[in-house]
Amino acid sequence: MAQTDKVRVNLKKTVDDSYDIHIGPDLFGQLASSLRERPLGDRYVVISDATVLKLHGNRLTEALRKAGLKVERIGFPAGEGSKSRKMKVFLEEHLVGLGLGRDCCIIACGGGVTGDLAGFTAATYMRGVPWVQVPTTMLAMVDASIGGKTGIDLPEGKNLIGAFHQPAAVWIDVTTLETLPRRHLVAGMAEVVKHAVIRDAKFFKLLEERAEAVLDGDPAAQREVIKHSCAIKAEVVSADEKETELRRILNYGHTLGHAFESVSGFSLLHGEAVSLGMASEAALAVSMGILPADEADRQNSLLKKLGLPVKASVVMRALLGRPLRPKEILDYTHTDKKARQGITEYVLPAKIGQIKTNKKKVSTAIEDKSILDFLRRSSL
Ligand code: NAD
Repeated sequence: MAQTDKVRVNLKKTVDDSYDIHIGPDLFGQLASSLRERPLGDRYVVISDATVLKLHGNRLTEALRKAGLKVERIGFPAGEGSKSRKMKVFLEEHLVGLGLGRDCCIIACGGGVTGDLAGFTAATYMRGVPWVQVPTTMLAMVDASIGGKTGIDLPEGKNLIGAFHQPAAVWIDVTTLETLPRRHLVAGMAEVVKHAVIRDAKFFKLLEERAEAVLDGDPAAQREVIKHSCAIKAEVVSADEKETELRRILNYGHTLGHAFESVSGFSLLHGEAVSLGMASEAALAVSMGILPADEADRQNSLLKKLGLPVKASVVMRALLGRPLRPKEILDYTHTDKKARQGITEYVLPAKIGQIKTNKKKVSTAIEDKSILDFLRRSSL
């Protein structure tokens, strides 16, 4: 056998991608000072959807300019439809057109759509530039802005293309919630309830006590809930950044939830779909003898108290004008990224605050036939 020459590329490295989540009212000035003192680039670009740009993005741009920073801004149409390849190309062409190079820093100011789209653009633009999250919806504050998952949707399913690209910082200005429509505030609370159900029974109790105050716009209650929720997400992401196992628990309610969201043609908000997903996956856990029925009832009571939907059959019938077909739900679960060896996996709670685990595995593989049976016989 002929001898080969070998040259080694040494890439062993220690990386510290740690970052802080700042939570408080009226933070734009503080964010600007922080970037002036510890710059993340020579030029900044605020990316927001058109609604948020008007309400908050322009203000943020001004605050950054006032601090002496060079800032551009880009707007794109609001809505899940913008989490697309087309919109990513639009942003990239805009960035190139503005002459922004590797020394730029992207500031994603908006909801989860803005964070996912602008973050994915930051992950690939010039092979990756730093970015900062300024979430303005409850859902983005408590969930989407943390953990570095970025991406876009395909017609075949949500979030099918993306990258892990951690932000350099997250700045949660709770004052921006004042302009958020109530439906979106409520929807964001679904992910908060999810965090409590999968990880923290005490937090769940706090939510039962503080639900109304949060919805009434009580800033102290909102801050408390956001901080708790961020801490849970941060703990899980810190333990398993790339979702090798533990991070999968954050997908509770999302396997069926994503299916409901897709079947609804995205007329359901993400949080509403997740609420239906949690109610349905809790029912699945009850039917498998994993979760006591009264624990599922307690979860659903909190969701209802928050104004979130729990009856998938009723909601979907109203939206589609016909009954939900179990097979269409099943088909959508196949695009789920959590599937292992082609079998869809479900994260199932064992009780409030705790997920069922099996030898450190946090999700349970369930054959299509069993899911179809469950969907057919249960009154979701
Ligand atoms: P969104 O970004 O579309 O925002 C919802 C709506 O609220 C938009 O119309 C927006 O213009 C408007 N809005 C935002 N902030 C506002 C404010 N302060 N005042 C008035 N209007 C405001 O949707 P979302 O619910 O924030 O996020 C949903 C997306 O997040 C989904 O695509 C979902 O897949 C993604 N997500 C990502 C992660 C992650 O880890 N990356 C986690 C959960 C969800």
